[in-house]
Amino acid sequence: MMRGLRLRCPKCGRGQIFRGWFAMNDRCPECGRLFDRAPGYLLGSIYFNYGVTAVLGIVAYLGLCLFYGKLITGRSSLAALCVFTIAFALWFFRYARSLWIAFDERWDPWPNEEERRREAER
Ligand SMILES: [Zn+2]
Repeated sequence: MMRGLRLRCPKCGRGQIFRGWFAMNDRCPECGRLFDRAPGYLLGSIYFNYGVTAVLGIVAYLGLCLFYGKLITGRSSLAALCVFTIAFALWFFRYARSLWIAFDERWDPWPNEEERRREAER
């Protein structure tokens, strides 16, 4: 998971998963691990992104109500939280994907039997 937080390949820990802000490498440049293992595989990262963003949004909302409840109106805090959650989800996108790939590597290391067969056919 630490490799995931560093946006590195979960297999070798050396290769970068991303080559730009949103552009991902298909494979690890160091060890060749496939990052997008199957169609729809990376959708799991949405759970990471949604979960972390929702928890932080709730904590921020409670913090605003608790500490600034008398200074900020409901509309102002809603606008601030909307901006925060959208910006955070975009910023966290790469980490969510990287953490998803690392989580998956922990439970289903690449290559599994089917992927090994496909790699041999390449
Ligand atoms: Zn690698």
